[in-house]
Amino acid sequence: MTTVAAYAAPAAKAPLERTTIERRPVGEHDVLIEIKFAGICHSDIHQAREGWGEAIFPMVPGHEIAGIVTEVGPGVTKFAAGDRVGVGCMVDSCRECENCEAGLEQYCTRGNVGTYNAIGKDGEPTYGGYSTHIVVDEAFTVRIPEGLALDEAAPLLCAGITTYSPLKHWNAGPGKKVAVVGMGGLGHMGVKIAHALGAEVTVLSQSLRKKDDGLKLGADHYYATSDPNTFKELRGSFDLILSTVSAPLDLDTFLSLLKTDGAFVNVGAPEEPVSLNLFSVIGGRKTLAGSGIGGIQETQEMLDFCAEHGFGAEIELISAGEINEAYERVLNSDVRYRFVIDVATI
Ligand code: NAP
Ligand code: ZN
Ligand code: ZN
Repeated sequence: MTTVAAYAAPAAKAPLERTTIERRPVGEHDVLIEIKFAGICHSDIHQAREGWGEAIFPMVPGHEIAGIVTEVGPGVTKFAAGDRVGVGCMVDSCRECENCEAGLEQYCTRGNVGTYNAIGKDGEPTYGGYSTHIVVDEAFTVRIPEGLALDEAAPLLCAGITTYSPLKHWNAGPGKKVAVVGMGGLGHMGVKIAHALGAEVTVLSQSLRKKDDGLKLGADHYYATSDPNTFKELRGSFDLILSTVSAPLDLDTFLSLLKTDGAFVNVGAPEEPVSLNLFSVIGGRKTLAGSGIGGIQETQEMLDFCAEHGFGAEIELISAGEINEAYERVLNSDVRYRFVIDVATI
């Protein structure tokens, strides 16, 4: 065991503070990663505040991890010391169910092992990226291409893959009208990726405050959902709507914006249930779907795609002492567009 520095929430809703945690010895197939940067995902906040239900404390959040391999186990074949790598939302899965076999480890039928707020196969709690080092099986480690700066790459490990996977699955591309709802961490990556895939992209944000940014990131159109005219004007417009909103939405209103056979895909994970009038999907043969992160191979594909297109995330680099303040800003939709912790400050 190695003792490393970390930032942890000691209890639900308590501010995060500096502490130390134990990392397991480097096993046969493990890599030891010196973490350089860790993104702050809204999911970190939902979990640190037990918004999704009972959680494990102390909690070291962080599933947008970018760093450098410093040691590898004897059975490691994919990585060597010095490699630039990333770790996302999972650190293990059963590896033999139908979904794991298909590269859909995120939907492992026996449940994947979360990077934090989970119990690993060794029976110990997992601790995430707000820490100086992590030991991870090479099978759940991905390579960060040279073209991407590590700090701008970190958010791709959750925000990037969570938007890339459904955009690919629902065929966002040339000739498709795609709306992204909410322009925060996930949403701004959704805009960049949908644009890079060749779709015509519309942002549906609460206000027009971030319009200039949205257009710069690749959106073709930008509307405020606080303006009732938006819903009149855009009725029946979209092939695909990707919602990244962290709070409950009026689904019936958003479903009215789809074309016949259009799909509303939700990746936002609000803490309260939402209601739906089923007539909203009956008329127009519409699909209401959800999507969770992405598999390991697809995460690598997404990183390579972003490197090829020359973009990472838009980030605000912060020191570890600013984490609690950053949480408040995320809760106020005041994020442009991902806070990333400079782990050297822990
Ligand atoms: P974020 O940076 O806070 O972005 C969420 C955006 O939603 C905000 O920037 C805001 O955009 C909009 N929004 C917030 N409150 C709203 C409200 N009351 N009404 C309407 N719009 C609102 O969060 P994130 O890190 O992108 O995460 C977004 C959600 O996805 C979270 O619930 C997170 O847990 C979840 N998530 C899911 C997955 C998955 O695998 N499915 C993965 C990662 C995260 P505007 O200011 O533009 O309106
Ligand atoms: Zn996340
Ligand atoms: Zn499995």
